[in-house]
Amino acid sequence: MTGSSEPAPPGRNRRVVLYGNPVLRQPAAPVRELDARIRQFLADLKTTMLEQDGLGLAGNQLGEPVAAFAFDPRTTGLDEPPTCMINPRVVATEGELEREEGCLSLPGIYEVIPRPELVRIAGIDETGRPVEREATGLLARAFMHETDHLAGRLFIDYLSELRRSLLARRLVEFEEREVKATTE
Ligand code: ZN
Repeated sequence: MTGSSEPAPPGRNRRVVLYGNPVLRQPAAPVRELDARIRQFLADLKTTMLEQDGLGLAGNQLGEPVAAFAFDPRTTGLDEPPTCMINPRVVATEGELEREEGCLSLPGIYEVIPRPELVRIAGIDETGRPVEREATGLLARAFMHETDHLAGRLFIDYLSELRRSLLARRLVEFEEREVKATTE
């Protein structure tokens, strides 16, 4: 993949789509080239994540099935600016931890689900170079959550039928809000 030495464009704070939008169930398409459109999209992902207090944000949450996600290494104490992982794939996992998790596409819902304790992902960084990153704790959880998004999976998919049925009413509300937002 070809990179670019041009400075990144300023990102825009965009609307995050809610549960019910079909794009959240659509597997994301791999990025083939870091052209101006994709670079703008990556900038938007980072800005939207930061402005809306997310730990991570996947491409399809901005309404486009683009295989990239933003994450903020500072959430686990790393002194690195927010960045994007492009065409990510999980190459190794270890252990398991149960923790509460939430999602900007299901605002206000927090549920305890198991995730690996340690995760290694491979992908492409914003300059077009292949990278591998290892994470533990909250960042490992974010990596699993975001790579799931790019495969069309949501964290509530891991809940028992009983837990999901308790959320049913709120899920319908998200669907209704999303229909309203996309038809206005
Ligand atoms: Zn999410």
